[in-house]
Amino acid sequence: MSDPSDKSDPAAVSRRSLLGGMAAGTLASPAIGRASVRGSKFKVAVIGAGVFGVWTARHLQQAGHKVTLIDARGPANNRASSGGESRLTRAAYGKDAIYTRMALDSLTQWKALSSRAGLPIFIPAGVLFFFPNEDAYLTDSLAAHRKLGLPTEALSRAEMARRFPMIAFDGIAAGLHEPGFGALMARRAVQLLAREFVADGGRYLLGSVSPPDEKSASLDMVTLSNGERIGADRFVFAAGPWLPKLFPQAIGQRIVPTRQEVFFFAPPPGDRRFQLGTMPGWADFNGGDIFYGFPDLESRGVKFAHDAHGVDVDPDTQSRVPTEAALAEIVAFRDHRFPLLRGAPLVESRVCQYENSGNGDFLIDHHPRLANVLLVGAGSGHGFKHGPEVGRRAAALVMGTKPAEPRFQLATKTLSQRREVH
Ligand SMILES: Cc1cc2nc3c(=O)[nH]c(=O)nc-3n(C[C@H](O)[C@H](O)[C@H](O)COP(=O)(O)OP(=O)(O)OC[C@H]3O[C@@H](n4cnc5c(N)ncnc54)[C@H](O)[C@@H]3O)c2cc1C
Repeated sequence: MSDPSDKSDPAAVSRRSLLGGMAAGTLASPAIGRASVRGSKFKVAVIGAGVFGVWTARHLQQAGHKVTLIDARGPANNRASSGGESRLTRAAYGKDAIYTRMALDSLTQWKALSSRAGLPIFIPAGVLFFFPNEDAYLTDSLAAHRKLGLPTEALSRAEMARRFPMIAFDGIAAGLHEPGFGALMARRAVQLLAREFVADGGRYLLGSVSPPDEKSASLDMVTLSNGERIGADRFVFAAGPWLPKLFPQAIGQRIVPTRQEVFFFAPPPGDRRFQLGTMPGWADFNGGDIFYGFPDLESRGVKFAHDAHGVDVDPDTQSRVPTEAALAEIVAFRDHRFPLLRGAPLVESRVCQYENSGNGDFLIDHHPRLANVLLVGAGSGHGFKHGPEVGRRAAALVMGTKPAEPRFQLATKTLSQRREVH
C-alpha cells in the first residue's frame, strides 16, 4: 500500500484537494501486495465516509494506525444516511440504557469537535420528549438519567404548556426535558472530521469498492470499480445502507433500508417562538410512532419528520422526490400539534433512508468468514448521535483490544424486522 506521508505518491490526496470539495479522486494508485503488520500498528482501509466511517478512521488514526478512508461519493454525500442538515442528539432511550451511556460519551466528543469548528457542530437546543401517558419509556429513561447524574427534568403537561407555548399538548400527560442535548449539524460534522483526518496525515480516496469475495478466509486488498487495488492489514466496511449489497451473504436482509422523508416549513416572519433558545428539539413519542423535529436552525425552516419506517428502498435508485402522501401526513400532524404553523409554506424537503437492523441495534462485528474484516452499520434511524462511540468501539475491535458487545454482534441480527429500540 502506498504511504500517505510520501508526498511523491500520486494517490495521497492533499488537504487542499479535499478542502476543494471532497469530490477529488486520485490518480492511479499502485497495485498493492500483501501488507505486513509492523508491531501493533496496522494499515487499515475504512470503506464508507459517513458518520460511522469517519469516526472509526479518526479513532484508528489517533491510535497511531495508518488509515485510508474510501468513499464512492464523498463524505456525508447527498444519498448517504449521514447527509442533510441536522440530527437530534438525546439520551432518552427507555430501557436501552446502553444507548443513553453512548449518547452521553459521544456528546463530549461532539462538543470537542464543535469547539474546533468555525460554525457550530453541536447546538444545545435542549430536547423535549412528550408522552400521552406515564409510559415505561419515560420512567425507564428518567431512572437511567438519574443514575448518570443527568439534569433531565420530568415535566407535567401544565409546565410544558407554560414553557413551550408553540406546542399544543392536548392528549399529552407528561414530558422529559434534556437541557444538555440538542442538534448536531450532520453534513458539516462529517466533512469537518474528514478534513481533520486528512490534515493529520490520513489518506482519503474517492472510489467505489467492489463487493469482496465472501468465501475467502481474509482480505489483503479491495478493488475499486476503476480497477485500482488498495491493500491493508485490516478492513472496516462502514457502508451504511449499502452494506447488504457489499455483503449479500453475511448481511443480506439483516439490514433493510427504508425510505424516510423530512420537511421544513417557514415560520411566520419575525416570529421568535420558533427560534433557538425558545423552541427546543422535540419528539412526540406517540406510543412509539414518533414524530420529531427542530426549531428554525440556521434559518432553514422548522423541521418535521415521521420516524416510522417507510417502504423498503435501494439507496442507489430510490426517488429523492418527496411524496404528496408523506407531506400531507406531516402537515396534518403539524397543524394539530403546532397550530401556530398552520398554513406555513414548505421551504425544503429531503428524502433519505434508514438502514435498519431487525430490532434497531447497531452492527459492530467481524465478518463471519473474512477474519480481518469488520462490519459497522445498522444505524437504524438513531445512529448519528452515537458516531464517536461507534467509531471508538469499532477501532477497539480492529485493534483487538475489546470483544464485541453482544447487542452489536452479527449473530444477534435477525432476518425479520421488529423494532424495539427507539
Ligand atoms: C432522515 C433521517 C433522519 C435521521 N435522524 C437521526 C437523528 O435525529 N438522530 C440520530 O442520531 N440519527 C438519525 N438518523 C440516523 C443516522 O443519520 C444514521 O444512522 C447514520 O448517519 C448512518 O451512518 P453510516 O455511516 O452508517 O452510513 P452513511 O452515512 O450512509 O455512510 C456510508 C457511506 O458509505 C459509502 N459507500 C457505500 N458503498 C460504498 C462502496 N462500495 N465503496 C465506497 N464507499 C461506499 C457511501 O457513499 C456513504 O458515504 C437519521 C437518518 C435519516 C436518514
